[in-house]
Amino acid sequence: MKIIIHRGINQIGGCITEIQSGDDRILIDLGSNLPGTEGEDFTKEQIKSMTRGVNAILFTHYHGDHIGHFADAADVPQYIGEGALAVMQVKYKTLKSPDIKQLGSMKTYSARQKMQFGCLKVTPFFCSHSAFDSYMFLIEDGQNKVLHTGDFRTHGYLGKGLDKLIPAFVGQVDALITEGTMLCRANENVPTEAELQYKAIELLSRKDKCHHFFALCSSTDIDRLATFHKACKKTGAWLVVDSYQKEVLDEFTKYAGAYSDLFVFDRFKVIGTEDFLEEILRDGFIMPIRSKQIRMMRKWRYYATDAELIYSMWKGYLTGTDKQVNPDMQKIVSVFKEEQVHYLHTSGHATVGAIRDLIEMTKPRKKIIIIHKDRNSDIGLLNLSEEDLSKVVSGFKEGENNCIEI
Ligand SMILES: [Zn+2]
Ligand SMILES: [Zn+2]
Repeated sequence: MKIIIHRGINQIGGCITEIQSGDDRILIDLGSNLPGTEGEDFTKEQIKSMTRGVNAILFTHYHGDHIGHFADAADVPQYIGEGALAVMQVKYKTLKSPDIKQLGSMKTYSARQKMQFGCLKVTPFFCSHSAFDSYMFLIEDGQNKVLHTGDFRTHGYLGKGLDKLIPAFVGQVDALITEGTMLCRANENVPTEAELQYKAIELLSRKDKCHHFFALCSSTDIDRLATFHKACKKTGAWLVVDSYQKEVLDEFTKYAGAYSDLFVFDRFKVIGTEDFLEEILRDGFIMPIRSKQIRMMRKWRYYATDAELIYSMWKGYLTGTDKQVNPDMQKIVSVFKEEQVHYLHTSGHATVGAIRDLIEMTKPRKKIIIIHKDRNSDIGLLNLSEEDLSKVVSGFKEGENNCIEI
């Protein structure tokens, strides 16, 4: 079996991994570069030649750094989770993206549904991430067993399930391909999603202070929206959403609500008619907004003059390097006084401890391949044994033919 890391060995995002066995080839993810990434993204022609003749492309989740180039490989069978596809369709319809046509021909898989591509057997396992309906893949060819984690974390609402899932359904592997985003962010504070919920409840229950909040957050992060929704439910406040966000919440309820009450979104008001204004001003509200919605926010500030801001995104968009900062988000934050901005965020990615636990659970026999990691990452943080350390693939450069034979 050959594992080729086309991209993502020394950068966060733009992930493309190929698995080959005999004449069969599959790609895991076909991501585009995140904003601020050094170097040029692949051209359409490069993607076409990379994907030519592969049996299938399997997407772990719908973030652009994993799926961004899907429309450039229209003639290859593509697969994604059913709920993930539903959310993408809502988003692409709203954006009026021409790529929605290609989405229509995407196939879906569900958790633990075995798929066969020639001699390669692939089993998807649900995992917790800041994107809804995210998966890891177990890939087997009769000789080797490889686990590709995609993006995952264990501090989300359903993250703890991994401790049971890996021993029961995966066991020891020959190679582990894991994300390593946090290996360059070891000092970042990583609260659990449940802890964020307590903080949101605290804000909505403050005495003698306003209970009106805009929340700058991702419109497709099911855990974070569940955090705000639950906090509203527990305090009698309202989640106030626009029609696009409502459609996304409806998909969450349809697909994830069947498994957990936490993801049944049923206490919200939809912007359009504003006959609920009195009610939300009286009871309190959280209104999720996106970076381009400063005008909408200003309009609602006219009604709720005391409203404050919950900043619920990565802080690097405000204070990172020139390439990382997002001027739209900076503009929104600048509308508020310092004491009116509340930072409620946690990473969508595995902590160093979670990566170490996964290595311990899967006991890779041959290789440990860490992708989705910055080139300044510190592998030493993992505190691996000499033996495990010798299995970690290193010395690869981005943009080269990074092929690992196992
Ligand atoms: Zn990613
Ligand atoms: Zn992701």
